[in-house]
Amino acid sequence: MALSNQQLAAIFSDIADRLEIQGEVVFKTRSYRVISENLAALPRPVEDIWREGKLNEVPGVGKAIHDKIDELLRTGKLEFYERLRAEVPDGVVDMLRVSGLGPKRVKEIWSTLGVMSLSELEAAGKAGRLRGLPKMGEKTELKILAGIESLKRRATGRMRAGDVLPIALQMREVLRAAPGVLRVEYAGSLRRGRETIGDLDFVAATTDPAAVMSLFRSQPHIEEILGAGETKSSVRLQNGLQVDLRAIDPSVWGAAMQYFTGSQAHNIRVREIAQKQKLSLNEYGLTAEDSTKLTFDTEEALYARLGMAWIPPELREDRGEIEAAQSGSLPRLITRADLRGDLQMHSTWSDGAADVLTMARGGIALGYEYILITDHSQSLGIANGLTPERVRAQRKEIDAVNRQLAGEGLVFRVLQGVEVEIKSDGAIDLPDDMLAELDLVQASVHTSLAQPRERITERALNAIRNPHIDILGHPSGRLINEREGGDFDWEALFHAAAEHDVALEINADPARLDLNETHARRAVELGCHLTISTDAHHPGGLNQIVYGLSVARRAWVTPETVINTWPLDKLLAWAASEV
Ligand SMILES: [Zn+2]
Repeated sequence: MALSNQQLAAIFSDIADRLEIQGEVVFKTRSYRVISENLAALPRPVEDIWREGKLNEVPGVGKAIHDKIDELLRTGKLEFYERLRAEVPDGVVDMLRVSGLGPKRVKEIWSTLGVMSLSELEAAGKAGRLRGLPKMGEKTELKILAGIESLKRRATGRMRAGDVLPIALQMREVLRAAPGVLRVEYAGSLRRGRETIGDLDFVAATTDPAAVMSLFRSQPHIEEILGAGETKSSVRLQNGLQVDLRAIDPSVWGAAMQYFTGSQAHNIRVREIAQKQKLSLNEYGLTAEDSTKLTFDTEEALYARLGMAWIPPELREDRGEIEAAQSGSLPRLITRADLRGDLQMHSTWSDGAADVLTMARGGIALGYEYILITDHSQSLGIANGLTPERVRAQRKEIDAVNRQLAGEGLVFRVLQGVEVEIKSDGAIDLPDDMLAELDLVQASVHTSLAQPRERITERALNAIRNPHIDILGHPSGRLINEREGGDFDWEALFHAAAEHDVALEINADPARLDLNETHARRAVELGCHLTISTDAHHPGGLNQIVYGLSVARRAWVTPETVINTWPLDKLLAWAASEV
């Protein structure tokens, strides 16, 4: 029975959850967390590696884990896991998804009140039965109820862009091969670069609509065909995503792409502008009062006819882009080509799946001039964080990698950084003299995200004021569709970051996208610098940069604001000036 890396990763993280609920100490469940993350990040199917007899070479695989993966791949089952599942009910594990509930509390609620599911938990909270438990009060009870509410809100059916874009790219290739097809593009919120996607919309310019429609409806992974017209079809995929395809005549491509890209708010404004010129606008183009039809095979031609410059899709939200397009003052948005490096990634020194050299090769392959290795610091035990001694040992390896690359004639620098923990009391997890030795320092909050506003803001401010810290990583700590970020006082944080010139990260991991577009735009308004970096845990992760770029573009970010567009000497000089 075939098990994917993702399925195996889920089993091991579930094992850790259940063991912790049973009362196992975190130290003992760590190896399951590590292997879970490593499997998820592994670039090849672990099953292939297992067949080659090389399981021991996968990072994090010791004897006990080896035998468990072996049993799972041989039999499709794991006796140890089956026993655990019988001991700790699934509904109890579900309670861990409520923010503010850790394994200890879940165990307490389960064993004392017999609560075994999210709905029973909600009922217990509403009946006031949680507040009587040890170390809990009315406040905690309210927080748990709010956490359940937010879990329900997340079930909105919008998927992360990172789960949709790969499907869209693959489908586009398939549809482009249909007879008669001249062009196929995705439109809608994916083209606008939004962080989550409702439906996926395709537009196909074709001389043979029937051919592309039947190809579209006969793709694999379709669960249900929702509509099958001559020029429009809708399907629902097995993962729940709805995909629509419109076939149009090539002569109306520009108007159709403009119409189906949206957003609604943007299109309403564009329609009003057309109406003022006594024109009506729809997906086929403009119609004059005497019924003359104007068609547009490019979006540029359509916008130009209405007196506007072409507007990048990411800006089409009616947030000032119409006025800017009319007055010729649209921003020069940052692009992939502007980036000279990636300033957040992990290696096997902490929880990454690849060594420093492999990550460097990944950066070189993308045309970068530098990368910054930012492994976790010591207090993040789960991620095998670095002690000062290990930071210094890592420097030796990075120096050796730089020598090797220079020997190959490559103009490329691996910089040493760290993702230093901002601990729950605001303390920085490594001493200042240690931080001073690094090329750039990033600080991040990973724990105690539920602290009250004043306290969690003070933590971030403490890091911003530290003269050795250059970057604040994934500032809110949110995980899209999974967990809300911390309740920071953003205005205070941005003012301080501008004053001390600490760059704020747009973390490009599609689960994070943190800063989000609203915060990123405000931060730039207040004079902050940004970085756009991937937080990659293996070389393939460096490609996630596209999602971070979308956030930046939606935030009207121009290249000069983003420190990883700068040449290396400028970046290092900036890092060395301590504000
Ligand atoms: Zn992090």
